[in-house]
Amino acid sequence: TSLEHWAAVDDYLVATAIRPDAAYERTREASHAAGLRPIEVPAGQGKLMGLITELAGARSVLEFGTLGGYSTQWFAAAVGPQGRVTTLEYEPRHAEVARQNLDAAGLGERVEIRVGAALETVRELIDSGAGPFDVVFIDADKANNANYLAAALRLSRPGTVIIGDNVVRGGRVLDDSSTGADAADVAGIRAYLERQGQDPRLDGTVLQTVSGKGWDGFALAIVREADAAAAG
Ligand code: SAM
Repeated sequence: TSLEHWAAVDDYLVATAIRPDAAYERTREASHAAGLRPIEVPAGQGKLMGLITELAGARSVLEFGTLGGYSTQWFAAAVGPQGRVTTLEYEPRHAEVARQNLDAAGLGERVEIRVGAALETVRELIDSGAGPFDVVFIDADKANNANYLAAALRLSRPGTVIIGDNVVRGGRVLDDSSTGADAADVAGIRAYLERQGQDPRLDGTVLQTVSGKGWDGFALAIVREADAAAAG
């Protein structure tokens, strides 16, 4: 099937050209062994986000959705010893596993995990004057994606990079009248994509991806000066 072929090609690319440090695989395996769902980003995407973080010279990253800390680990490595990652997670158990994984990888000191509903924890960040962050990764409950994007903009500056995951969902993103199991997620994703396309502060793209996890994609945008973007 296509899925098996995509997975085999992904395995080949990871082993041949991507070659992630073994510490990433340890985090993935420890998360699965702890019973967390295997829904972390593929290695190739984790590495891409780490590279983007480095290319941006980023020192501060905000993440929505920690799970076992797999994507967090890519960001934490990329921000360097002076950098910091703030990651928001609803499930205390996930935060606990992530804490263990990040400490084991020697990156724990760079990461703050805030436990709670991200809409609330991000509100606390805004109220406390946190940010602006250099990179934001939105990968929690997709139904809230447009709300998270709005919050991310309040914690951004011109040049901030905002990445949103799982925006294609096997093509279900086209189904604007979805009544399926992930209808709320599709609606949240569509609202996110519409905002990315229409907000003058956002200038972005979306790439479709295939991997062992199937057909999906991610959105990538840079925050512009509102005036400059409108003039451009
Ligand atoms: N970013 C992770 C990675 O790639 O390794 C994967 C994150 S997983 C797709 C989504 C996570 O968001 C889960 O751990 C889930 O518990 C968390 N989550 C779900 N609803 C949330 C909410 N309202 N606030 C914060 N986190 C939430």
